[in-house]
Amino acid sequence: MPTLPDAASVSDEPLLTEDGVLFVDGRELGVRISLRRRRLGLTVERDRSLTLHVPKGCGVRRAEDFVRSSAGWIDAKARLSEERRQLHPTRSLRDGEIHRYLGRDYRLLVVDAPPDEGQPVAAVRLVAGRLRLDSGVAADPVLARRALADWYGRAGQRWIQGRLQPWAARMDLPEPTVRVRDLGHRWGSYRAGSTDDGTISLHWAVFQLPMHLVDYVVAHELAHVRVPGHAPEYWRLLGRALPECRRLKTELDELGRRVWMGDLD
Ligand SMILES: [Zn+2]
Repeated sequence: MPTLPDAASVSDEPLLTEDGVLFVDGRELGVRISLRRRRLGLTVERDRSLTLHVPKGCGVRRAEDFVRSSAGWIDAKARLSEERRQLHPTRSLRDGEIHRYLGRDYRLLVVDAPPDEGQPVAAVRLVAGRLRLDSGVAADPVLARRALADWYGRAGQRWIQGRLQPWAARMDLPEPTVRVRDLGHRWGSYRAGSTDDGTISLHWAVFQLPMHLVDYVVAHELAHVRVPGHAPEYWRLLGRALPECRRLKTELDELGRRVWMGDLD
């Protein structure tokens, strides 16, 4: 029995190849072919390069049309990423530099590690109002970033533990597990659990914000325990527990852009 050729082979249009590069109107796009995919899609990578995701057998012309029709989206994303890049401050980890924790300023004190007395001392500690950073760690940007992010993670985890229960009770929700980690450009996320009450993840950088904004992020994620997504029903639920939630969201958007995300200069 004769079989119909599939659409792609009818025309002599060239097909995209995996890991190839496509140029459209001066834009360069990396090409990824996915067997499961039916539609085309675009992602902006962390280094701001563009990746075009296409189904198998996708022709060049179809891809070009798609990229051209997405020009507005690409430009908007590029602007957003540029704004983020410009606003998030960098740190140099010099003595006396201001670092924030729960909205308060703490000066950095770079200290030499005390003589080894068998007890390892944490690379970052908050002692008597100064954030003490080990000088050996401060000299290594990779270690220093990790040590500070870890410190925010540990301090934030301890702080949030006592904070979650009152919010969960107020919203009449079960209390999920909380984890603090690097979430990229998101402040928080909620993942439902199959056997437990799910997990709220919070970005370590959140704990630089004033307490009322950390509370907002917690309440925001807690509301997702009941309603995924941000439809009106979601905002009604959050608004019952936190009537000023819209104002807080605006404040978080504003202030959040000036939070240190771990970049060192
Ligand atoms: Zn949300």
